[in-house]
Amino acid sequence: MGRTVLAFGGNAIAPDGAGTAAEQTERLWSTMRQVADLVAEGRTALVLTHGNGPQVGNVLIKNELAKDVVPPVPLDWCVAQTQATIGFTIADTLTYELAQRGIDRPVVPVVSRVLVDADDPGFADPSKPIGPWLHDEAEVARRTGDGLRFLHDPARGWRRLVASPEPRRSVDRPAVELLLDDGAIVVANGGGGIPVVDDGSGPLRGVEAVIDKDLAGALLAEEIGADSFAILTDVPGVAVDFGTPEQRWLETVTVAELRKHADDGQFGAGSMGPKVAAACRFVERTGSRAVIAALGDVVAAVHGRAGTQVVPG
Ligand code: ADP
Ligand code: MG
Repeated sequence: MGRTVLAFGGNAIAPDGAGTAAEQTERLWSTMRQVADLVAEGRTALVLTHGNGPQVGNVLIKNELAKDVVPPVPLDWCVAQTQATIGFTIADTLTYELAQRGIDRPVVPVVSRVLVDADDPGFADPSKPIGPWLHDEAEVARRTGDGLRFLHDPARGWRRLVASPEPRRSVDRPAVELLLDDGAIVVANGGGGIPVVDDGSGPLRGVEAVIDKDLAGALLAEEIGADSFAILTDVPGVAVDFGTPEQRWLETVTVAELRKHADDGQFGAGSMGPKVAAACRFVERTGSRAVIAALGDVVAAVHGRAGTQVVPG
């Protein structure tokens, strides 16, 4: 069996940006039960990746609130912190679930960097919502004055927007390959990867951005030659006329059909939009399938029996 990449949504792990450590652990654990089932049935060449929108936003808030006590750290450091906490939780719960099934395999989170272009247009036009929804209009106005950007949804409030440049290359792919070749299950490109630029004058340099994890996951899946890519989130798949009485879930759909729906404005920017873009890219570049499905449907989704299956054509 070939390599499989599973991408778990940050919002699905921490609904509404809330979620105590215990609640997030519980959700990851129940997801890892399904991942362990996949390994037990022989799907052993596995790379896991995860989002971090709510989590990285929360780390950022702690930084801002504590800035007079300890020096704040940049956003790339915050992303690295979320890779560590989510990666460790995945390793811990998945190792346990594998052991329950009599499987002894290392689960290794890799602190992973992803290269972006220093002049990516994303830096001038922040598009990635992170952190909790805010409800205090005066606070939002004040922080907008300080140069921050916010997304406004009349029903939910305001949410901070940060730059989300295109992922160009998974810097730590060679480490991922070594680990896979040695039989490890690898967690990589978490939170879209730590965004870095190469200015040719020294070490790679972290930049203040959050790369979309669906795009970074698709990139890694392509780079390691995966033949299966699954994006797991908090809805059962891709819908057209989402949230309206005409809402219809798509089952099997070609890249061309999905792109047409995207052009019709069917998918939320920063939510379903990047998942659809990531799935289409992977399918187009590899000729393999991708699926977008609910976090609770990991096994069925990988088997082609749940979610929206994206096929070539
Ligand atoms: P994740 O953390 O898994 O990346 P997101 O919130 O980024 O989750 O994306 C999933 C969300 O996309 C869903 O909860 C849903 O509200 C939203 N969405 C926007 N358009 C659509 C659509 N056409 N079909 C399904 N979901 C959609
Ligand atoms: Mg998302």
